Amino acid sequence: MSCINHLFLNIKNCHKTDINITFKRERDKGKGTDMKKSSVMASVLMVCFALSSCSSESSGGQKGKLTITATTSQVADAAEHIGGDHVEVTSLMGPGVDPHLYKASQGDTKKLTEADVVLYSGLHLEGKMEHMLTKISRQKPSAAVAESIPKEKLIPAGENMYDPHVWFSIPLWLYAVDEIEAQLKKAKPEYADDFTKNAQEYKENLKSLDKKSREKIGTIPEKSRVLVTAHDAFAYFGKEYGFEVRGLQGLSTDSDYGLKDVQKLVSLLANKEIKAVFTESSVSKKSINAVVEGAKEKGHDVSVGGWLYSDAMGEKGTKEGTYAGMFAHNIDTIVSSLK
Ligand SMILES: [Zn+2]
Repeated sequence: MSCINHLFLNIKNCHKTDINITFKRERDKGKGTDMKKSSVMASVLMVCFALSSCSSESSGGQKGKLTITATTSQVADAAEHIGGDHVEVTSLMGPGVDPHLYKASQGDTKKLTEADVVLYSGLHLEGKMEHMLTKISRQKPSAAVAESIPKEKLIPAGENMYDPHVWFSIPLWLYAVDEIEAQLKKAKPEYADDFTKNAQEYKENLKSLDKKSREKIGTIPEKSRVLVTAHDAFAYFGKEYGFEVRGLQGLSTDSDYGLKDVQKLVSLLANKEIKAVFTESSVSKKSINAVVEGAKEKGHDVSVGGWLYSDAMGEKGTKEGTYAGMFAHNIDTIVSSLK
């Protein structure tokens, strides 16, 4: 809608009462000349124009809320908590979705184009959406939130590339949370105080989750702190919380795994007497089952220690559908299987 159309709609809808009252006052004073009427009309129009504020089109979700489209649920979770009632957050990638392979649908493109702000994880996590995200970021406020983490804290993965799975280190993910807070404040400075308050609460929760997780991990014998999963989503987790991490596939689920990889892992499991390996929410069970069977053939019994959330979170509305719930699920699953 053009600004002019917007203006007329606003005059039609909102300030009829104001106009009537103003005219009535003028009449009551007995000074209602045509000149006066038209000057009053002009000032009413100006007030209407100011109130109609064309900017509400660009920052306009329903009821003036800031609309945010996030790629992953981890990013959406922080935006929802920090934004509270002032935002409307849409997450493109639901439960079980693999962000490395995810391609934007037509519906997604619409959601990205219509949002006031676009937030994505970045560091090439959304590998197949990069072209579109780069294009969108030229058109509107957008941020690759994980790219706000200082480079020296990232795990290199090739030339100018970094492991993108940063959300499994709470201290690192807090940088991304800070960036989300900053983006919200930039888009709606009038709610900055609310965003600060919500963000503080959210971050306190995550810090306490971090502390509790370390306590639980402390109950696993040190030599048993080995995490074997289907793809390398847990390198930051391992570095942060003291696990040796082995993944069957490369960093992206796009890469293939071979017999050699399976054999290497089987030897590791047997040598270190690791009790369990884990499946992941966004990766097929086929690969990890190959390892379990390989170990059995060598006479070492390995169980599948339950499944971990890796790149995707749980169903919306469940505990695991939140960042904190998903993280806690992983900790509890790992601790009970390896203890
Ligand atoms: Zn991944």
